[in-house]
Amino acid sequence: MNAIAERIQNIQSQLPASTTLVAVSKTKPVSAIMKAYESGHRDFGENKVQELTAKAEEMPKDIKWHMIGHLQRNKVKYIAPFVYLIHGVDSFRLLKEINKEGKKNDRIIACLLQVHIADEESKFGFDEQELVEMLKSNEFDQLENVKILGLMGMATFTENKDQIRDEFKSLKSLFDKLKTFDSGNIEMNILSMGMSGDYHIAIEEGSTMVRVGSAIFAARNY
Ligand SMILES: *Cc1c(COP(=O)(O)O)cnc(C)c1O
Repeated sequence: MNAIAERIQNIQSQLPASTTLVAVSKTKPVSAIMKAYESGHRDFGENKVQELTAKAEEMPKDIKWHMIGHLQRNKVKYIAPFVYLIHGVDSFRLLKEINKEGKKNDRIIACLLQVHIADEESKFGFDEQELVEMLKSNEFDQLENVKILGLMGMATFTENKDQIRDEFKSLKSLFDKLKTFDSGNIEMNILSMGMSGDYHIAIEEGSTMVRVGSAIFAARNY
C-alpha cells in the first residue's frame, strides 16, 4: 500500500463508521490524488474553483468533489454541473446564485451553511441570528434547486484545545437546534468540522464529516 493510502486507512480507523473523511487535496497533484483514489477513496476537497474544475476534468468521474473554500458568486457556474457538496455557503446572495445555477443544470445542489465560530475576524460564515433569519424567510423557502444538508465550521487556529472544543460544541448545539426546522429544502444531516489538527476533538463533539489535508498528503508548499 502507498503512504497516502496508508494514512487514509489509519485516519479512517479512528473515525466512527458514520463519519465521512474528505481528503483535502488542494495544491496536490493529480498523481497524489490518484494514489488515494486507487485505494478506494472517493471524497476529495478543494478550495479553489479553477483547481477543482481542472482536476475534475482530468480525473475519474465517480469522484465526489467537495468545494470547501470561500466561493465567489461569479464562479458558481463552473462547478454547478458536477460539484457533490458545497461546504462554504456563507451568504444568502451566494445561496441564491447556487440555486440559479442548479436550475440551469437541472439539478439540486447540496450545500452546507458555514457558521462563524472562531474568534478570528478572517474566517467567513453566518452568525446564528443571520442564519435563522434566512431560514425563516419566504424567499429561502422558494429555492428549489438547493438543499441544505447541514453546517460547516472552522475553529480558531490556536493551541488552546478547550477553546477549540467550546467552538465545536457551539456549532453542534446550533446544528441540533436547526434539525427541528421544517422546510422542503433543509435536511440537517451533516456537521462538517475538524481538520488535521483538531479532528479528534471534532469527532468527540459530534462531527459527521472531517476535512483532512496535511495529515494525508503531507504539508503543503504554497
Ligand atoms: C485546507 C483546509 C482544510 C484541511 O486543512 P489541513 O489542516 O491540511 O487538514 C480543511 N478545511 C478547509 C476549509 C480548508 O481550507
